[in-house]
Amino acid sequence: MQCGRLGVWVCYECAKQILLVHKQRCFLCGALSERGRTCPNCRRKTYLDGLVVAAYFDRGPIREMIHALKYQNTKEIAEILGHLCRYGLEHVYQFDRRSVMIVPVPLHPRRLVMRGYNQAELLASYLGDVHNVLKRTRRTLSQTGLSRARRVANVASAFVCVRPVASEIVLVDDVATTGATLNECAKVLKDAGARRVWGLVVARG
Ligand SMILES: [Zn+2]
Ligand SMILES: [Zn+2]
Repeated sequence: MQCGRLGVWVCYECAKQILLVHKQRCFLCGALSERGRTCPNCRRKTYLDGLVVAAYFDRGPIREMIHALKYQNTKEIAEILGHLCRYGLEHVYQFDRRSVMIVPVPLHPRRLVMRGYNQAELLASYLGDVHNVLKRTRRTLSQTGLSRARRVANVASAFVCVRPVASEIVLVDDVATTGATLNECAKVLKDAGARRVWGLVVARG
């Protein structure tokens, strides 16, 4: 990890460098926007009503922590990042906390078997009861390194909704870049009857 101190994944000094996002933005155009709400100009371009980002990707150990969460089996990391998400969740709540449904972005079943856990589900578990209502119907390439257009094509029709959904949903993932995956999930959730879908990620990579 960052400083290599023994016995802890993130020491206090490194953790202090994590910078929380206090001013949320429209995830498409970057305009300041309360609670990360998709701004009126961008509203027609996406199914996501908003996206809350908990922390800055490039500050402190966040980037490495997200990598460790995905590629090394580290529950301790999930706990720290899960608490960051919980902080982010406070931004989302104009919702009724009791009726909102917490939904993680799913992994493909084969990747789930290989990894042993879905990192988005681990994070979501720190926010409340997790509802696995989405399934991946096909394997997709890693979004890393793809252009925006290719990211959109890569995740098109990659998800289905397999259970009834609540009208208000918080969709959880570890990281968002263009938001193509979250948008595709939000589309499927709205087709299934959700009225409002807010994304929540640890960081914007
Ligand atoms: Zn350290
Ligand atoms: Zn916008």
